[in-house]
Parts: sequence; structure tokens; C-alpha cells
Amino acid sequence: MLFTFPPEALSCNWVNQTVTEALNLGLDAIDDGGAPLDWPGSLPADKRDVLRRRTGLQPKLIAFWDKYSDLSLADRTCLRDAIARQTNLPLVYSDVALPCPCLNDIPAEIHDAVKALSEYLFGQLGAIKENGKALRDIQFETCQNHGVRICPYCGLDYFLPVGTKRNALDHLMPISKYPFASADFKNLPPTCHSCNSLYKLDQDILFDNAGARRSCSDPYAGPVYQLKLNGSVFGEGNEVQGFIMPRWQINFDGPTAQQAETWDAVYEIKSRLVTTLDADLLSWVRHFASWFIREIGTGKSSDEVAETLPRYIENVIQDHFEDRAFLKAEAFRFLSHSCADPINGNEIKEWLWGFVEYAV
Ligand SMILES: [Zn+2]
Repeated sequence: MLFTFPPEALSCNWVNQTVTEALNLGLDAIDDGGAPLDWPGSLPADKRDVLRRRTGLQPKLIAFWDKYSDLSLADRTCLRDAIARQTNLPLVYSDVALPCPCLNDIPAEIHDAVKALSEYLFGQLGAIKENGKALRDIQFETCQNHGVRICPYCGLDYFLPVGTKRNALDHLMPISKYPFASADFKNLPPTCHSCNSLYKLDQDILFDNAGARRSCSDPYAGPVYQLKLNGSVFGEGNEVQGFIMPRWQINFDGPTAQQAETWDAVYEIKSRLVTTLDADLLSWVRHFASWFIREIGTGKSSDEVAETLPRYIENVIQDHFEDRAFLKAEAFRFLSHSCADPINGNEIKEWLWGFVEYAV
């Protein structure tokens, strides 16, 4: 990912942990041969009033405990291991030595009860309110108040602002495979529509298609990666509007390569960035040309055009991620760097000069 969400957005992240603790207390009682738990007395005191009003919760816990009672000792151990592993966030993202059993690894007899509880809890993030706001809206509003306006998984699309429709929440660990993390905001970063509904879908972030364990970025702590276009080659890429684009080489600078590989595999980020560069470059260069004429004037040489690129990058292109600036600035740095190439630098300068010379 390109940047992280603020940890403050986890301030209302209590549903998954609180209900898991209540669930485990019931499982402990059953393991000890005890009776069903007192309701709502077994709920944590600070959330008892809120949760007792959620009328759907008690029957789902009771159904879960009933099914658990019928399991063998080995199956109970397997189930409790899955609960512990799936809720071990965010460590499970980074430590590939940690196993993480999924739904298919736990006894089939209890699947329906598990699914019912997990889907119910996820729905509660939009239903339970604090100070008049739903928990998931508090999470997103906190992100936006900390300046997160753009999807950090692609850097291409803006989030819908607070007050319009809700943005998607992406189950990094899909609810269909990891039901015990269904309502944990650590597993639920906001994402743009494209990332969530066109690319990530139900992919398992913890395992690749061959079943190999992989690591991924923690949405609130990273690692994050910086885009670089070094290695791109001018004039060897796709044709767009009669112009041959650079052959783009997308690189991600960051502390490790592993999480970047998972990010690219799941969100197809490199190919999306290449497509965007191809689609946007001519528009960007035309804007540079009209700015050049306004600022510098007409009748200038190709050398003067090339020498002005750093000024344009520094003074005109927006900072960071607004308006795809991270991509646009890097594309112009690539062009500026390419103009100094001893073999084809002059050709690139002429190419840029042509936009200035013929700008309307
Ligand atoms: Zn996105």
C-alpha cells in the first residue's frame, strides 16, 4: 500500500474482541462441564448495556455454544485454535510462520453457527452507534479527519466524502474463510470501489493461489511503498492517440519486497498504474506545454523546454497523492531524467518541444 490509515481510526474497534471474549467464556464453561452462561451478566461490564440491546446476539451465541457442546475434544481444540489464530491481528499479516486455519479447517457441524455469528457481527458495525454515529462511520470519519481522502491501495480513486454513500470496507481476510475476524476494523480497511469490487473480491490475502502463506501490509502500520519509474524506457511502450508511450517499469521502494508482492498480486496494482500512466500522460504533457507558454513564452528551444521540467514538478504538480501527484510527478521526473540520456535525450526533448510548439 502507498500509505496507512491512522491508528486513531481503531478507537471504536471493540465489537469483535468483546464478543469473542464472551464467546470464549461460554466455551470455557462448556469445557468445564458447566451450564450455559448467565445473560447478559457474562458480557463485559463496559459493553453490557450496548450488547444486551442487540437482540440477535444472544440466540447466535447460544446456537454456537450448543453446537460446540456436541463436538469431540479434538474438534473443540481445532475450533478454538482457529478462533485464536484468526483474531491474532495484526501479527498474522506479517508473521508467515503463524498458521491461520480457515473455515474449512474447522468441523462442518458448526459452520452454520459460525457464519451466522460472523455475518451478524459485521452488520453490527453499521448498526451500533456511539454519539449518534455508527461504528464504521466513526472509523471512516476518523480516517478522513486525518487527511485520508484517497484509497491507499491504488492511489487512483478518491473515497466518497462523509455525508454521501458509505465507502466499501474490505475484508482483507475474507469473511467466508476467516469468520472470526469479520468485525475487526484491523481487518476492515476502507477501500475504493475498484479495489474492493473489481480487484480484491474474495481473494485470500494470507495465502496465494498455490496455497503458499504470504505476508501483507497492516493497514494501520504498513509497511508502505513509494512508487518509482526507474528502468522505464521512452518510446517502447503502447501506442496512445498516435504516440508511442514509454515502456513503464513500476518499482516499489520499501523496507521489504514481500508485502509489496502480495499487494500487487491481489490488487493488480502495477498493471493498473501502467494503464493509468498510458491514459494520462498526454494530458499531463499538454498541461505542462500550456503552462510553459504562459510562464516562459513561445519560440523557445527544446533545451529550454527540458530545463524547465524540474520547475514544473516542484511548483505546479500537487504534493503526495492528491490528483495522482505521486504518479504524475514521477512520470515527469522520468521524462526529465530521460532528456539527459546521451543516446536518445535529444529525441525526447524534441518530443516535449513539439507539445509546446503546437500547443493551442
Ligand atoms: Zn483503490
